[in-house]
Amino acid sequence: MLGEVINGKEIAQELRMEMKHDVSELKQKGYTPHLTVVLIGDHPASMSYVKGKKKACEETGISSEIIHLPETTSEKELLHVIDRLNSDKSVHGILVQLPLPENINERHIIEAIDPLKDVDGFNPVNIGKMMTGEDTFLPCTPYGIITMLKRKNIEIEGKHAVIIGRSNIVGKPVGQLLLNENATVTYCHSKTINLKAYTQAADILVVAIGREHAISKEDIKTGSVVIDVGINRMENGKLTGDVNFDEAQKKAAYITPVPRGVGPMTITMLLKNTIKACIGLENN
Ligand code: NAD
Repeated sequence: MLGEVINGKEIAQELRMEMKHDVSELKQKGYTPHLTVVLIGDHPASMSYVKGKKKACEETGISSEIIHLPETTSEKELLHVIDRLNSDKSVHGILVQLPLPENINERHIIEAIDPLKDVDGFNPVNIGKMMTGEDTFLPCTPYGIITMLKRKNIEIEGKHAVIIGRSNIVGKPVGQLLLNENATVTYCHSKTINLKAYTQAADILVVAIGREHAISKEDIKTGSVVIDVGINRMENGKLTGDVNFDEAQKKAAYITPVPRGVGPMTITMLLKNTIKACIGLENN
């Protein structure tokens, strides 16, 4: 028996079609959602992510702009740009592409973004709201994972969800969102002793480590749901996940591939958050 593949690309496309419709309705009412992305420096991966975000906005009818600043930008200069965007009424969503150069403190920047325009969902105000289960901007990758599970009608309530990885952008928030859906959540990380004992007990296993094929068939429970967040570039240049897909699929009930799994959902949820920001700010 082979586990069913959760096709993130397909789900993302469906969602984007729905959003295109929502955006055209907003436009008829005189509102065009607008996202401003701030990029510092010329890091190739960051440049390609930012381009992808702009393209996705265009395809959905969302207006977007990229503010590209030099690598030498100071924290004070960047804070000034954020200040200006916070008070610009035509800007609904602000995203500062991470990572930032070493001279800039990431926390200071994230905290400076108006929580009502924080479409990445990284501002502590929004993280706090997420923890207390209030309606807010959810961080895009975890939001994408939960949305995928719901679209596939995969039951979360009462299930044992095991998260490997405890980063602020993936591991911690995805565990919180699963808890909000009444899963029983266990966090594992680089200091976890006997990781296998936890992964083998998982009904839902979310892997966000960043190490090629760290998880294989023997690490997972028969009939489980395996969500692979990892993005790793192999020697042949191709992308692969943290899970050995071919092996794990033989045991899992559902599994996400890499590419075409969690990745396409992440940008899609950014679009969703931008539309939400537009509706929220224009109705204020
Ligand atoms: P990170 O480096 O911040 O965190 C990695 C986590 O893995 C850490 O919490 C660490 O404790 C844990 N870890 C490391 N080695 C381990 C081990 N041997 N056993 C158990 N745990 C271990 O990474 P991140 O930002 O959370 O990203 C994780 C992966 O997800 C990366 O490959 C990244 O590229 C990918 N990612 C994908 C998307 C997407 O849209 N698909 C979005 C964000 C990140």
